[in-house]
Amino acid sequence: MKSASGLIFKDGEFVKGSARLENGKLILSEESDPNADVFGLILPKTVNCHTHLGDGFIRIPEKSTVEELVAPPDGLKHRMLRNVKEQEQISSMKESITLVARTGTSHFIDFRESGLEGTRRLLMASLGTGVIPVILGRPDSDDVNEISAILNVADGIGMSAISDMEYEYLVNLSVHARSTEKVFSLHASEAKREDFQKILELKPDLLVHMVHASDDDMESCASAGIPVVICPGSNAYFGLKPPLRKMLDAGITVCLGSDNAMLSEPNMLEELRKLRTMFPITEITDREMLEILFINCRKVLNSLPGLGAANSNQPDFFVLEAPVDEPFLSIMGSETENIRMFDMGGIP
Ligand SMILES: [Zn+2]
Repeated sequence: MKSASGLIFKDGEFVKGSARLENGKLILSEESDPNADVFGLILPKTVNCHTHLGDGFIRIPEKSTVEELVAPPDGLKHRMLRNVKEQEQISSMKESITLVARTGTSHFIDFRESGLEGTRRLLMASLGTGVIPVILGRPDSDDVNEISAILNVADGIGMSAISDMEYEYLVNLSVHARSTEKVFSLHASEAKREDFQKILELKPDLLVHMVHASDDDMESCASAGIPVVICPGSNAYFGLKPPLRKMLDAGITVCLGSDNAMLSEPNMLEELRKLRTMFPITEITDREMLEILFINCRKVLNSLPGLGAANSNQPDFFVLEAPVDEPFLSIMGSETENIRMFDMGGIP
């Protein structure tokens, strides 16, 4: 596909227009193009703000608690991660990243467990996919050499939660990450409320979940300017529901992630559908949902320290071949086979 025409999602609105590749650059126009290759919605590529693609090879039981499945060090996932063969894990991550590309996402922010080796495997899996991984590694020890080695190649550190580990260890990691101007991020108040003052003292760049955050926690989070990633698919599996209305009213920049690949495919349009299932239109409007996906996720990516090439205010676009009279409904009903990419010469 070299050209598309229909509606473009631009600055939070759908406007009539078209897009055409010229000398490898995508040119947007407010004129329709009756001769375009494809007709439909021209949408900015999305950013998946929270993944754990390393666990996509795990087949999970129908119902488990957060503790049984994902709590370190002995939740099912962590036992499986210790034993997985390198090639099996890399192939499974590559399969997930191919889906990320196929469904219109340009970057994903991954919490990559398993020390330096975990980061290396994700880099291997990402090669040639056309998608940019933002890797938040996780040391296996408190060895300062291991932490430095991870920070040398990864974009920062992504940890479990203050309830899961020694607080002083998290303080050290946060100081270390900031001294190298890299990201420090962790999960917060997922299965139960955690002490938000202690979380704030870690100076996180990004928090994940906040399902059990109190009103005061949300106020403090908004005042500190810390964005929050919510993960509807993962929350739904555990029977959880984030206080999204209150988060938005408190002024938090809320973005979206697909969380563990063993629970939820890394497909952002699917996460948007799960978000709508969780929140009726009387609680969260269509426009708010589109802003979360197409505007906030990229804003959050761009706010993270030290990302260099990953930062971009010029997102690429993809096309959803679908009727344009009710764009939100078309997005809700989208099928992966109707998602089309501009042909940039082999790279998805
Ligand atoms: Zn997570």
